[in-house]
Parts: sequence; structure tokens; C-alpha cells
Amino acid sequence: MPRARRRVAVLGATGAVGQTFVRLLADHPWFEVAEVAASERSAGKPYAEATRWIGATQMPDAVAGLTVLPCDPKHVTSDIVFSALDSSAAGDAEPAFARAGRTVLTNAKNHRMAPDVPLVIAEVNPNHLDVLEAQKRKRKWRGAIVANGNCASIVAALPLAPIHQRFGIQQLVIATMQAVSGAGYPGVPSLDILGNVIPYIADEESKIESEVQKFLGAPNGDTIASAEFTVSAHANRVPVEHGHTVCMSVGLRSRASVDAVQSALAEWRGADAARGLPTAPHCPLVLTHEPDRPQPRRDVDTGRGMSVVVGRVRPDSVFDVKLVAVGHNVVRGAAGASVLNAELMLRGGFLGGS
Ligand code: NAP
Repeated sequence: MPRARRRVAVLGATGAVGQTFVRLLADHPWFEVAEVAASERSAGKPYAEATRWIGATQMPDAVAGLTVLPCDPKHVTSDIVFSALDSSAAGDAEPAFARAGRTVLTNAKNHRMAPDVPLVIAEVNPNHLDVLEAQKRKRKWRGAIVANGNCASIVAALPLAPIHQRFGIQQLVIATMQAVSGAGYPGVPSLDILGNVIPYIADEESKIESEVQKFLGAPNGDTIASAEFTVSAHANRVPVEHGHTVCMSVGLRSRASVDAVQSALAEWRGADAARGLPTAPHCPLVLTHEPDRPQPRRDVDTGRGMSVVVGRVRPDSVFDVKLVAVGHNVVRGAAGASVLNAELMLRGGFLGGS
């Protein structure tokens, strides 16, 4: 779509999500990684030296020789800034970039629940970008912040979107089994997680509960109004490399058979605005009828890691229906989702001329 590839920066480029940005953007038709930035520990070093590359593919040559910059808009000049910063740094750094006129697409938790910050899944709620004008006006920013959800929230919200659109959600119970890559690098010590399940991930349950409601909410003037339903989440860390598994029991406002819920999931292609974008999967949801699927090892790379695989749709004796979803936490739940949001914004005219 753009005549020339747009220069972008990746903040937190040395970490697990930052490396995934570098990998996904290596041959991107619209964007080119021109700058990488990280902490003072890494700044000044060549990217290849500062980064312990954890991907299965080679580090892209075009990025390996870039010098890692400090996360400061005086040093990083790109207009489009993907942030994979640790939350300890994102709180101050991301608004500094927005004040300096840059558009920040963030994966950090810090600004997600601010009512004027759109929390966007391109196929679910692209209209939430409508609050950006108000965000800029009220904060007196030339740039903006657009957030991605938490990795488990995104995997949950994708199948919940067509269910909420068709039948309305009244109650929701979520239990997650989350991969170790969700904790970044080096993440959870191997002796804590191998052969084990840890029934605690700091702040995760409250993030999942509030973010799912925000994703399924609607713009209301200058802010986003979260959807109103009751939700309770359990979050567990399990010894899986990539792919969060999310089990959900859903109470519906309108009665619906299991067949009707399966049809809603199978037919859903997401918002028109996201269709055909370079990172958009053909099917954001893939419904499986196999009794023992989805499984992270087998299903995590569906749709190049951008599809969520849903299965085991069945009656729930407490609520109405229950189901299981698996999605790639670092791709669909982080870097891939941000790249797709940037494509949506570029096509929608939110990122200036090409
Ligand atoms: P990570 O592997 O720990 O990487 C953190 C990155 O932040 C590194 O590049 C690190 O740079 C940089 N950093 C740390 N402290 C900094 C500072 N004071 N100033 C500047 N840079 C600093 O974490 P991750 O898993 O990639 O996660 C990155 C962000 O995405 C986090 O906010 C996380 O919550 C969020 N997220 C992660 C996932 C996932 O599945 N992993 C999913 C959704 C969202 P150095 O290498 O120089 O220390």
C-alpha cells in the first residue's frame, strides 16, 4: 500500500517480544526496522551483540548490525514506534514518545486501561481507534499511544467476540494455562517450572478480567466504555514453550445451542477493516471438532501464529456453554497483534501519508 516502506523503531528490541517484532518485520511489505532500542545495559552495542537471540530462525542481517539506542525520543527518530518494553520502563518512555509526535504501539501493561487509550484487536474492535483524536487533544500530544492486550486476554477475547456480538455475554469464567515465553527472557527458572504448574502469575487475573471487558466494549464520546458482564479469571503457568491455552465457561444473555455457538465461531471473519492486511490471518478463529484439540504444541502456529484455534465447544451445566482456545502468546498475543494494528492504522489514515 505505501509507496516506500515506512521506517519503524522497536523499543525493548532485545527481549522476547522485541525479537519477535524484529523477526515478523524482516520482510514486511509496509514497514522496515530502522532503529532498535533497549536499556542502558544494551545501548551502544550492535544488536547482535546485545541480544541473546532465542528464535528458531536466524537473526535478520539488516538488523544485526544496527546499534542499540537508548529509549529516548531524542535518539530514536522513527514516527512509528513498536514498544516491547518492560513495564518498569514503559510508564515514562512511551508518553515521552507520544509527546514528541510519535505513534506508539505498546505491549506493556502501563497504559492499557486508561479510558482514552484504545486497546485494540484489529479484527474485534478497530472502531476503538476513534478515541485517538480525543487522546491527543486532552493530553496535548502530537503523537499517540495504542495498546495491545495482555497475551492471555487477546487469546480469550478473539473467540468471545463473535459470541458476545451474537448472543451477549452475561457471565464468564476463564482458566488459563500459560506458556513460559509469556514471562519474557530468561523468564521462569527451569527448576521452578519443569514438571510443574504454578497457579500464580502476578497481576494476571485482574488484567485478563478488565481487558476482556474493554476489548468487547464500545467508544462512548472521548473514551471507551467496557462491556458489562461479570468475569472471573484463574491464571496458571505451565511448562509449555509457546501458546496459551484458555478454558472458558460462558453465560449468555440470549439462549443459544452449542451448534449455534459453533456456527458463530466458524463463520466469523472479524471486522472488514482488518481483512486482507499483510499480517491478518485468513481466519482469525479456526474451529476444531477433534475431541482432544486445541493443543499448544500442535496448534500454536496456525495462521502463522495469528489464528486462535477453538474447540471442545459443549454445554456447561453451570453457565450455558464452555470452550477451549489456544493462541500464540508472543505472536497473536503480542508482536503480531501490534504489527496488525499498525497495518490497520496505516490503511485507516492514522499514521500520516505514505
Ligand atoms: P523481556 O524478554 O524481559 O524484554 C524486556 C525488554 O525491555 C528488553 O529489551 C529490555 O532491554 C528492555 N528493558 C528492560 N528495562 C529497561 C529499561 N529500564 N529501559 C529500557 N529498556 C528496558 O520481556 P518480554 O516478554 O519481551 O515482554 C516485553 C513487554 O511485553 C512487557 O511489558 C510484557 O509484559 C509485554 N508482553 C509480553 C508478552 C509475552 O508473551 N512475552 C505478551 C504480551 C505482552 P535489555 O535487554 O537491555 O535489558
